[in-house]
Amino acid sequence: MVFEAVTSSDQWQRACVRAIARQVNPISMNEAHDGAITTRHYVCGSVSHPGTGHHVVIVEHAGDTETYCDCEGSQHGRACQHVAACLINLGKLAPR
Ligand SMILES: [Zn+2]
Repeated sequence: MVFEAVTSSDQWQRACVRAIARQVNPISMNEAHDGAITTRHYVCGSVSHPGTGHHVVIVEHAGDTETYCDCEGSQHGRACQHVAACLINLGKLAPR
């Protein structure tokens, strides 16, 4: 698993706008607390492959947020709409 740090960069802003435009709706699957670390698992419906979902993991520790998604864009290190939708849900990302 390669985790990407969340920043306020333009690529996250674009992912945020895409998530809203495509109405990506994350479903919370699990939330685990281990000391100062919170790990949240989500499934996001795939826009390009309806009926399938992408697995998103959001890890928070010491004020840092790291994210993982199993979609192709995320595997190439790009901010994706699935993670963005989860971050919007958590109040950690908003359109400028
Ligand atoms: Zn994704």
